[in-house]
Amino acid sequence: MLPKQRKIAIMGYRSVGKSSLSIQFVEGQFVDSYDPTIENTFVKTTKINNQEYDLKLVDTAGQDEYSILPIQYSMDIHGYVLVYSITSPKSFKIIQIIHDKLLDMTGKIHVPVVLVGNKKDLHMDRVVTQEEGQKLADSWKAVFLEASAKQNEITSKKCIADIFHTMLMEIEKANGNTVRE
Ligand code: GDP
Ligand code: MG
Repeated sequence: MLPKQRKIAIMGYRSVGKSSLSIQFVEGQFVDSYDPTIENTFVKTTKINNQEYDLKLVDTAGQDEYSILPIQYSMDIHGYVLVYSITSPKSFKIIQIIHDKLLDMTGKIHVPVVLVGNKKDLHMDRVVTQEEGQKLADSWKAVFLEASAKQNEITSKKCIADIFHTMLMEIEKANGNTVRE
């Protein structure tokens, strides 16, 4: 079987850990001082259920409530990983604005999304509950996961791989393909 080409955008407010999650997934390490302003595309090949995927991850520079999303984000992107930090109420508010803008721009009522509450290692500073994240994702018919890009344990790395695997499965579903859960 030929590999499937998939392009995924990672979006969210600044400093929520978009680059850290991308680099943790692609390179398996936590990089503490990553230039926050640049947009970068990472490539990775991954295999699920015997199907190979050539993944392009667009690690965006971040959005705020005033950002106008580039039109390319609606054209050749198959799915969106929307990230907030569980320590930042503002990032949680902004992720809702970004989702609204994505629907507006694509003209769709549903786009494949995985909602990620990052920095779950900072539980002392938590302000967004797991229930709030889950409820928001439910309202979008999206999948919700919490993660930490900083923790380097195997379970945490698996959790980050899960984000991108789940994203690929959500894209398959949106394409009308049945997916083995
Ligand atoms: P981006 O602007 O969304 O790409 O965010 P970065 O990936 O550049 O991360 C912003 C800051 O948050 C950096 O100082 C990271 O080291 C830190 N950071 C990212 N993810 C985590 C996490 O899961 N836990 C903790 N404690 N810090 C994180
Ligand atoms: Mg970044």
